[in-house]
Order: sequence, then C-alpha cells, then structure tokens
Amino acid sequence: MRGIRGKLCNHKNKEMFSENTKKAGCIEVICGSMFSGKTEELIRRLKRAQFANQKIEIFKPAVDTRYSDMDVVSHDLHSVPCSPVKDPAKMLEVADDVQVVGIDEAQFFGHGLVGVAQALANRGKRVIIAGLDTDYLGKPFGPMPDLMAIAEDVQKVHAICVRCGNLANHSHRLSDSKKLVVLGEKDVYEPLCRQCYNAALEEDHPRG
Ligand code: ZN
Repeated sequence: MRGIRGKLCNHKNKEMFSENTKKAGCIEVICGSMFSGKTEELIRRLKRAQFANQKIEIFKPAVDTRYSDMDVVSHDLHSVPCSPVKDPAKMLEVADDVQVVGIDEAQFFGHGLVGVAQALANRGKRVIIAGLDTDYLGKPFGPMPDLMAIAEDVQKVHAICVRCGNLANHSHRLSDSKKLVVLGEKDVYEPLCRQCYNAALEEDHPRG
C-alpha cells in the first residue's frame, strides 16, 4: 500500500509545516468529496491553534443552510465566532490580532475568495480553507481550483465509497434536483470511488 504510506508521511510533514508558520501568512486547503471529513480536519487544525493561544475566526458562506458541520464547529469551539458571510470581501474586516482564519464550505464563495485569501495571507494570517474539490458532475467547484493553485499546502481527504469500500473522491447525487447548491445530507449524496461513480452515472443516464 504505497499510496497509504505516502499519505501518512505527507501528513506528518504537513503538520510540521502548518504549525511552524505562526508568523508568516499562508494558505492551506483541505478538500475532498462529501463525507470526507473536511470540516473535521478544519476543526482539528483550529483547535490546535487555539491550544497554542492563537486567536481564530471562522467564516462560512451565507448560502450554507445546513447546520450539521458548522454546528460541530460552534459546539466544539464555543469561544470562536462563526460568521456567515455573503461577500468574501467581508472577511477582510477581520481584526488585526486574529492569527488564523478558517473558511468552511469555500466552494460556494465566488472567485472573489481567491483574492481575499491572498490578501489575508499577505497580512500574515494563516488561512485554512475547507471545501468540495468537485461538484456532483465531477467538475472543479467554484474557486477551489484557484485556491489549491495558490495555496502553500493542499490536503485531499477522502470518504469511503459506500458501494465498494475503496477511498471515495466523488459525490454522487441521488436526488433529481438540478441545483448545484443542494447541500449534503446522506440521502441526497453518496460518496463513491471513481469506478463506482462512473458506473452510477451509467445507471443514471444509460447510453441507448
Ligand atoms: Zn467504489
């Protein structure tokens, strides 16, 4: 299992990297499919920053009406304000003494988030961004590709494929809604690996 060992090593290096950059600003991206633990990883990093007595602030898009993920954030991190914002430019108003900025569900922000993340990092802040890397069609989602490109550090997290048990990196939509902004509940999306996702698309839209 070369891949898995490689991943563990990466993770170790990442930790050292992330937590040694207290003063210099940086951008970290955590991305993956639905149910891949993106928010959990975001929370883990924010908690560790809190243990180090760093001042943190969390933002999420105002379109995110799902409560589960952010509920975990507000539940576990009582002292941390989690602000829903429509325009990412609002994040630039973050106080000077905030050292770490967490952004969840980043895929729903427009491309304006890219410049905002740059500006925050240039002001010396550690910007930790979690979001879906691809939408239910398997296409790169919103500002995520650009954020991954400019980030100092990118971690892909994976769900488990509900059909075969392999690592999953696709969010297969089970509902009929054509809207992109349908937020994840287990009955609407299922995490699938590449092979099972392609098979599912064939089932959804059989060719001839
Ligand atoms: Zn599978």
